[in-house]
Amino acid sequence: MQTVSTIFINGEAVEGERNPFPVINPATGEAFAQCPAATPEQVDQAVAAANAAFKTFQHTPDADRKAMLHRIADLIDANADELAQLVTLEQGKPLALAQMEVGAAAGWTRYNADLDVPVKVVEDSDTRLAELHHKPLGVVGSITPWNWPLMIAVWHIMPAIRTGNTVVSKPSSMTPFSTLKLVELINQVVPAGVINIVTGEGGIGRAMTQHQDIRKIVFTGSTPTGQDIMRKSADNLKRLTLELGGNDAGIVLPGADIDAIAQGIFQTAFLNMGQTCAALKRLYVHEDQYEAVCSKLAEIASQQVVGSGLESDVTFGPVQNQDQFNLVSELVEDARAQGARILCGGEAQPGNGYFYPPTIVADVSNGVRLVDEEQFGPVLPVIKYSDVEDAIVMANDNVNGLGGSVWGSDIEQARSVAARLETGTAWINNHAEVLPHCPFGGSKMSGFGVEFGEEGLLEYTQPQLLNISRG
Ligand code: NAD
Repeated sequence: MQTVSTIFINGEAVEGERNPFPVINPATGEAFAQCPAATPEQVDQAVAAANAAFKTFQHTPDADRKAMLHRIADLIDANADELAQLVTLEQGKPLALAQMEVGAAAGWTRYNADLDVPVKVVEDSDTRLAELHHKPLGVVGSITPWNWPLMIAVWHIMPAIRTGNTVVSKPSSMTPFSTLKLVELINQVVPAGVINIVTGEGGIGRAMTQHQDIRKIVFTGSTPTGQDIMRKSADNLKRLTLELGGNDAGIVLPGADIDAIAQGIFQTAFLNMGQTCAALKRLYVHEDQYEAVCSKLAEIASQQVVGSGLESDVTFGPVQNQDQFNLVSELVEDARAQGARILCGGEAQPGNGYFYPPTIVADVSNGVRLVDEEQFGPVLPVIKYSDVEDAIVMANDNVNGLGGSVWGSDIEQARSVAARLETGTAWINNHAEVLPHCPFGGSKMSGFGVEFGEEGLLEYTQPQLLNISRG
């Protein structure tokens, strides 16, 4: 597979000035390509190029920027096979899921293309006309994780460009190639310097968060990194959108139709092998239905075909990296040691890849690490409750507050429980569903700010109130 072997600064493909680093295919545990590595000086060059481009790009007519995003979406479609292969090679997910990721990347780009930046008339009277406008911020730094590398890069880059900002992107070093390819494609459409990309570790992320000429950081990743970014961003008061970790709870209400909801629970808990920020990560089930729900989930889990994402019959790929694989194993062992019942899975597959089968763990409770911490992998703890009030308390008993869900047939009851979840999104009879028109973001330690929809778009802008006196 051909991978992009340069970074992009000011519209040019340039060599990284550090030694390239290997990128591991999680299905084999072996490197499949070398990624270029930038230096902090190259971060400076990228920011300077973005800053220079901003001077003119901010004034491009709105219609031109809309057209650019449509052309980018067409290019994503035209390169869909290559992008999907790259996502599977570097991230591990089954090819069908990678194809969905590429499709969503194109769809999100088109949605952003068609969004309008609103002008709100605040007052229109004899004394004044007051209008609220929104202007671009300047250079936006985008820092992305390894779970949905292409889609999250699109989530950051497209609204930034749509609103007239310029961008320096830094993908995760575990999954850099799909973003490098995306930036190569975007550069075929936008003026030089509008999109730049730097790769590697060794202070590259920090060089961005401390940079005085970056006006905003949009970051998706872990909470500790988000906290570091927030501290480092203080010097020039960077705007921040922080999409951080989650430990989403789902509550199955008494009397739920188990056959109707079990597939949905399984799919949204194990989406992307559980490596999804807003996956269902803890499930609370009433004691009357506890055993039935546990065995149904274990039955569905046992039907999964675990293997390399490039094999056609595989439904379940590897964990993305060794550290995450170790964490999942450790949390399951810790739960087992505390008396948990492992209903299926629970043992890593032998071999070199990071294969861990979908695992359902029963007889656990809050206070066990597997429940309290974000496992971010293919394991779901199922916790028994006897009173819905207790389930709500346990669901909210977590520092995170990204998403949460309620499952049941009585929608009014589900609605009243959902309203009490301390989360940025509450789903009923679903989980983990993100949509380009629905604002999505975290509460508590899951971050702040939203992505998607008009509210998400406006996070890339500075409000300016225009006050025209009419005497
Ligand atoms: P991570 O925080 O380790 O890394 C994310 C990115 O930050 C990478 O590009 C990394 O190189 C960079 N980085 C690391 N240290 C940095 C620093 N000090 N300054 C600047 N940049 C730095 O996260 P990860 O392990 O790649 O991703 C998994 C986490 O992301 C999980 O906690 C998951 O819940 C979260 N996540 C959240 C969302 C959301 O929308 N809320 C979506 C996806 C993933």
